[in-house]
Amino acid sequence: MGKEYHSTINLYGGGNPGLQAGEEPLRLLFCSDIISKMWRAYVFRLAPTRGQARRLNECLRDHRRLYNAALEHRRTAWQRARAPISYTSQASELTEIRADDSEQARWSYSSQQATLRRLDGAFRAFFRRVKHGERPGYPRFKGRDRFDSVLWPVDGDGCGWQREPGRVYLQGIGHVKVRQHRALEGVIKTLQVTREGRAWSVVLSCDEVPKCPLPPSGYSVGLDLGVARFATLTDGIVIDNPRHLAASRAELTEAQQRLSRAKRTSHNSRRARARVAAIHRTIRRQRADFHHKVARALVRDYDVIAVEDLRITNMTHSARGTLEEPGTNVAAKSGLNRSILDAGWGQFLGILASKAEEAGREIRIVDPRHTSVTCLECGGRMARPRQDTVICATHGAFDADLVGAWNVATRAGLGSRQVEHASS
Ligand SMILES: [Zn+2]
Repeated sequence: MGKEYHSTINLYGGGNPGLQAGEEPLRLLFCSDIISKMWRAYVFRLAPTRGQARRLNECLRDHRRLYNAALEHRRTAWQRARAPISYTSQASELTEIRADDSEQARWSYSSQQATLRRLDGAFRAFFRRVKHGERPGYPRFKGRDRFDSVLWPVDGDGCGWQREPGRVYLQGIGHVKVRQHRALEGVIKTLQVTREGRAWSVVLSCDEVPKCPLPPSGYSVGLDLGVARFATLTDGIVIDNPRHLAASRAELTEAQQRLSRAKRTSHNSRRARARVAAIHRTIRRQRADFHHKVARALVRDYDVIAVEDLRITNMTHSARGTLEEPGTNVAAKSGLNRSILDAGWGQFLGILASKAEEAGREIRIVDPRHTSVTCLECGGRMARPRQDTVICATHGAFDADLVGAWNVATRAGLGSRQVEHASS
């Protein structure tokens, strides 16, 4: 059960705060056609009453306190005695905590275990990165605005999905109304409640959801993901970054400036902060909508989709450089990296992968190195006088992104058709 729990936290894109850009979704890309059932997450808005909303906030607050207390426990034990503390030993204290603290006792025992597991996951990731020679930050205490979800690891244990009346039961909170906009399929495994601003959602992770394969389209495609353009396709289609995202970003800059001018504790500063948070939410929603739209279109039109293996975190690291070898051209590179992270490729690939799996399409991942500067004709390294143009001494000038897309397709074994097309 432990494994299932972790995968449900990390694997799914749709509004799941557990998903970090570029972190887990790549693993999903290797989908199997042998299995006719799959995992999938459903996200529905909740419509709590005023009292339920208050209790939901209290539930998050108490889980955050539990998380922070358990973190403090691990820190002190480490500082005083270099003694590591395991999840099991922390979980065994839950009974006592609940006996002593009537506020904590209100909530589901299993959801509290899940919160302790979440901390354990943070520590595991921390130690894994230390082992790989990285310099991760020590797991941090969660501030009031940094803890926005609680997981119930088993449907029916301290929670319950009610299919008919469109409600979900949550221990200590009540039967909360759900705005269910689509039918649920498969078997519910876990249930997670998330808060975004004042909005509440429930994420249901389901297993054994039947796939619904699309009829073959007869076409395949290679994708070059870019910064200036969101994606360039082998057949010459360019998908631009949506304009409304740029507009929201301009709005965000303005709101951030207003916030920095306001006195820290003033009424104006509170309003400015709320405004900044609201724009952030809008941007996240707009970006997710855009990613869903693009992924849906690609999956509809192509049987095989080739993409680059984007190790976004690695790219970020290479710009910063190491102690021995400080990053060259750091300013320019981190600017680019910010755009890359901003474009949310990790989220996009996660969405693309799950839609592809559902539709029985295939995603192929290829080595991204030098895809846009390798000549399609001779395989030689091309010069790149401008961001958008590459030149082979023998074969002339090409559009850099298009060359990138063609090389991605070729490396994925999608044939030479694209290459012939390039030279014609
Ligand atoms: Zn050439």
